[in-house]
Amino acid sequence: MTPFRFDGRRVVVAGGSRGIGRAIALAFAEAGAAVSICARGAEALEATRADMAAFGGIAHAGSCDLSDLDAIARYIPAAAAAMGGIDILINNATGYGRSDDEASWEASLNVDLMAVVRASREALPFLEKSDAAAIVNIASGAGINPAVRNAAYGASKAAVIHYTKTQAATLMKKGIRVNCIAPGSVEFPGGSWEKRKTDAPELYNRILNAIPAGRLGRPEEIAPVVLFFASSLAGWVTAQVVQVNGGQGFGR
Ligand code: NAP
Repeated sequence: MTPFRFDGRRVVVAGGSRGIGRAIALAFAEAGAAVSICARGAEALEATRADMAAFGGIAHAGSCDLSDLDAIARYIPAAAAAMGGIDILINNATGYGRSDDEASWEASLNVDLMAVVRASREALPFLEKSDAAAIVNIASGAGINPAVRNAAYGASKAAVIHYTKTQAATLMKKGIRVNCIAPGSVEFPGGSWEKRKTDAPELYNRILNAIPAGRLGRPEEIAPVVLFFASSLAGWVTAQVVQVNGGQGFGR
């Protein structure tokens, strides 16, 4: 499925048990990497770990609430110990703070933004030892184009896009590239857009009509772009933000 190979590389996918994170983790495992994922829910975590293991490499999973600094500080070294180091960090989790209230701001700032800052900081000692280190942050089109329905989420993702560029400038001297992907609306079983199809069909259809591709994206269409950013083919690519969205926002 992927033109990239990551044999001997060690990858952490923070928030990797479901949806886009799961597709990224499986794509790296299929490409020969050792992969560690973390999440809160045990069932999906173990299911994805088992699916990664079927590709034959190291497949590690750790229970970790990425809104908790101490939990991150425990998980990242455990992932490194399981794989013998870390070459690539994918910051994928979201707190999905949809409203403009305290709970939404706390959820998005803690997970969409601060987990990126904290997991990157914890992974840094391991990334510094790698000869092919890369971080890929998963933001969102919501971090580029404001929408009234997701103030906290959008602002947190905008901060991730900005932080990606600061990280890239800071870490390039250490040989660590940092890039960002801003997906458009991506649908998968159990995901937020599948739920909206029945719970909020008007919103779903409005979004669908704004995608020239004529459909929402699939997690498997985000993963290859992540793998490109993490690969040696992108060795001179850093501080970039790519929207993967089927042209979303340009109408049909
Ligand atoms: P998702 O279905 O909600 O999955 C998120 C993953 O992160 C799960 O594995 C989840 O597992 C884990 N996670 C969430 N909160 C966590 C926490 N506090 N600690 C540890 N793990 C946590 O999300 P998705 O739709 O695949 O989206 C993935 C990324 O793409 C997110 O950054 C999202 O903002 C971005 N994105 C998605 C879309 C879309 O349409 N789907 C569009 C634009 C951008 P647990 O819940 O079990 O912890």
